[in-house]
Amino acid sequence: MSARKPFVAGNWKMNLERKTALGLALAVRDAVGRREDVDVAVFPPFVYLDEVARALAGSRVRCGAQNCSDEPSGAFTGEIAPAMLVDVGATHVIVGHSERRHLYGEGSELVGRKVQLALEHGLSPILCVGETLEERDARRTESVVGEQLARGLAGVDGRALQTRVTLAYEPVWAIGTGRTATPAQAGEVHAYLRGVLAGLYNEPAAENTRILYGGSVKPDNVRALMAVRGVDGVLVGGASLKPETFLPLLEFR
Ligand code: PEP
Repeated sequence: MSARKPFVAGNWKMNLERKTALGLALAVRDAVGRREDVDVAVFPPFVYLDEVARALAGSRVRCGAQNCSDEPSGAFTGEIAPAMLVDVGATHVIVGHSERRHLYGEGSELVGRKVQLALEHGLSPILCVGETLEERDARRTESVVGEQLARGLAGVDGRALQTRVTLAYEPVWAIGTGRTATPAQAGEVHAYLRGVLAGLYNEPAAENTRILYGGSVKPDNVRALMAVRGVDGVLVGGASLKPETFLPLLEFR
C-alpha cells in the first residue's frame, strides 16, 4: 500500500501582510476542518510564520517556511536557521525553489545541505526541482531534474525520504507564467523522477515518496493534474493567496 496521501501546499512567497496572512490562514483552517483525506500546508513569509503557526495550532493545516539556512547558527546575517523555524511552529520547509536557484544563485550542493540540516532539526523538506524553458527545448529536462534530485537528496537515507521528504516538480517556465505543464508533460517527468528514486534507493522507497506538481496550478486545471498517475499533490503560488482560488484546489477529485 502506498502512503502517498494527496498534499496541497500554498507558497505565499513575498506577498500578503500580517492581517491578510492571518485571515487567509484562518480561512484555510476552517475549510480543511477535520478532513483526513488530504494534507494541507501554508508557507507564509518568515515574519508572519510565528503568528500563522499559532493560529493553525491544533488544526490539520501545517505551517512551513519558504527557505532556511544551511548553517545551524552563527554569523550569517539575514539567514534563518532550521531550529528557529521549529521554535516558532514550522513543520515544513521549501528547499530549492526555482526562485532561490535562479534569482539567488543557489546550487544543488547548497540545496542538499539545507535538506539535510532541515531533516536533522525535525523539519520536513519539500525539495523542488525543475527545468528552464531553454533546458526543456534542448531536451535536457531529465538530466537537469535528475541531477537536482540526486544532489538534493545526497545524504538522505531511505527512511527519511519516505517518511519526511516531499518532492515537487516545478518546471521553471510554468511558475507564475500562467503556462501550465500539460498532464502528459507532468506525468512524464513525475515517472522519470520516480525511476531516479528507485535507482537511488529502491522500488518501495520510490513508490512511497510523494511528488507534487507546481506551476500555475489553478481551480480550473487542478483536477486534470491531480488525475495524472504519479502526481500526488500540488505546490501552489499565485492561486494560494486568496481563499477563493486556494480553497477550490482542495476539491481536486
Ligand atoms: C511556486 O512558486 O511554487 C508556484 C508554483 O507558483 P505559481 O503557482 O504562481 O506558478
